[in-house]
Amino acid sequence: MLKFARVVCNSWKVSRDLLIGYGTAMASTKGQPISDMAEFRKVFQNSKHIVILTGAGVSAESGVPTFRGAGGFWRTYQATNLATPGAFKRDPSLVWEFYHYRRELVLTKKPNPAHVAIAELQKRSSSEQRRVILITQNIDGLHQKAGSENVIEIHGSLFKTRCTECGNVEVNTKSPICPALEGKGAPDPDADSADIKVEDLPHCNSCKGLLRPHVVWFGESLFDDVLDEVDEELNQCDLCLVVGTSSIVYPAAMFAPQVAARGVPVAEFNLEPTPVTESFKTLWGNYSSSFGTLTVDSSGNTFISKASVIPCWGK
Ligand SMILES: [Zn+2]
Repeated sequence: MLKFARVVCNSWKVSRDLLIGYGTAMASTKGQPISDMAEFRKVFQNSKHIVILTGAGVSAESGVPTFRGAGGFWRTYQATNLATPGAFKRDPSLVWEFYHYRRELVLTKKPNPAHVAIAELQKRSSSEQRRVILITQNIDGLHQKAGSENVIEIHGSLFKTRCTECGNVEVNTKSPICPALEGKGAPDPDADSADIKVEDLPHCNSCKGLLRPHVVWFGESLFDDVLDEVDEELNQCDLCLVVGTSSIVYPAAMFAPQVAARGVPVAEFNLEPTPVTESFKTLWGNYSSSFGTLTVDSSGNTFISKASVIPCWGK
């Protein structure tokens, strides 16, 4: 039943500093990777409290743009110049147009097999009295759309608003979020700015204050209560899966080392080798355009299969 192309595991106990400065320092302290599918299955099946960290790679599979790096433009703006408290203060209409565009776009997207696989894992695990917590940097809500519960959105959500006056946070999936934004937000470089009056932008139901997207913008810190929650899960889990983001790239780079430092296994699932992979000097098999899927074998065991999945784990 097992269809893992290759399982690579390695003993690694790393500090955050080591991970961030992965390179040769990490490679030089590690032994040769070994393949041990049976042990992976054992660890996986015996885990009672799994934390799954997901990143942009999972959203990308559904065609959700991240507005990062080359090509990450909306009109002539880079997200790093729009997703900031300063930009919102200067031009709330423009920033709301940008987020309106992103909300409407995401509403047309569907969860992909990675989202579904994770949701399925959670569902099965919960019926087996195992706890599976999902910690994601993605703000598109596709995990929930796939049926995931216990999702900690460390960067907030496109579908939540926060009042700039009273701080009230609410779920808001309205399309459009307000009448004035209807038909606005075109991403073309020559599209005109809607210049919507502040009073016509989304406002708080309680205090009438101006609402903003409840997302963590550039230059802002993660929410304290969210970090506390994450910390608790990381300190209690007995297995950590990193999906669609490298263990050396934020946010997993912040969290995976904390788990690994306790001697808890961390498994990485990505489509391409990551810098950590390279540092392990690992050879990989096939790559394809989709994530692996969690499946159930004849004995009722859940496991992750498909040649494209790259589990890279250590303890
Ligand atoms: Zn308010």
